[in-house]
Amino acid sequence: MKISLVIPCHNEANNISTLYHETISVLSSLHCNYEMIMIDDGSTDATLQAIKELSSTDSNVKYISFSRNFGKEAAMYAGLNNSTGDYVAIMDADLQDPPSLLPEMMKILDSHNYDCVATRRSNRKGEKKIRSFFAKMFYKLINKISDTEIVDGARDFRLMSKDMVNAIISMNEYNRFSKGIFGWVGFKTHWISYENTERSSGESNWSITQLFKYALDGIISFSQTPLLLSSYLGILMTILAIAMLLVIVVSTLIWGNPVDGWASTACIIIFVGGLQLFCLGITSQYIARVFLETKHRPHYIINNSNIADIEKIK
Ligand code: UDP
Ligand code: MG
Repeated sequence: MKISLVIPCHNEANNISTLYHETISVLSSLHCNYEMIMIDDGSTDATLQAIKELSSTDSNVKYISFSRNFGKEAAMYAGLNNSTGDYVAIMDADLQDPPSLLPEMMKILDSHNYDCVATRRSNRKGEKKIRSFFAKMFYKLINKISDTEIVDGARDFRLMSKDMVNAIISMNEYNRFSKGIFGWVGFKTHWISYENTERSSGESNWSITQLFKYALDGIISFSQTPLLLSSYLGILMTILAIAMLLVIVVSTLIWGNPVDGWASTACIIIFVGGLQLFCLGITSQYIARVFLETKHRPHYIINNSNIADIEKIK
């Protein structure tokens, strides 16, 4: 039995060593083989150096260093692609995903008929209020408009069987939204909740604009409802226009045609123009992603790794 830990790291130099020691002490109680795949996602601090130090004393520590920052999604994909364990866990480097949960997760996966044990936060303690607010709105919205279930508060911290990992790897789309991919591939998943813990050191890598872009990626990757919405709006506006036309024709026939109403005409033109741009905007968001997918650019480029025969561009 071997467990692979996939750990995306971006500017986590201060957390690497603590994470390693905490995880090792947990793993030693499990008496299983392990590998830790740490992905240095274009860090500008001493993250890679810290990982290399660990790998020089522990050959189970593997590192993959990207040529630049490709984002957490790419880092997780690289880790999953190179994992060799029977079970694979994804864990943050900032200790917000407590390694102490691993034994319980292993036990559930071993003894029950599950392919995945996933975690969710029972609260958002310590998070900025504005971020919590938008996160809650996002989950409400996406679950209304998407067929794939995306669980509110779900972390990327999860332990999966090799079968599930292979299914995830087979989804090689460029715009990756793992929270949706995990749900889309299915498999029997057991959820466990835990209290949110604050970062061990450093700041969250996500700004509000990045989170907004990520949310948009999620919606567009896992729902076609915005496109439907723009079609429905088009139909609604056409019906409205026909109704207004009839009213104007009838009122002109009855009362004649006094020349007035230029203000309302201007309003209507601006309103309809805005609506058209809005719908065009929705369509463009989908086209932009189609454009990126068709270019088939690699998800990541590796410039340094201690894994033999690693595929450097993927
Ligand atoms: N991360 C990464 N690349 C990035 C941003 C983040 O590999 O471009 C890693 C980061 O090092 C951490 C995990 O993803 O291990 C989660 O990031 P963070 O703690 O900033 O996110 P939050 O917990 O605030 O959602
Ligand atoms: Mg974090």
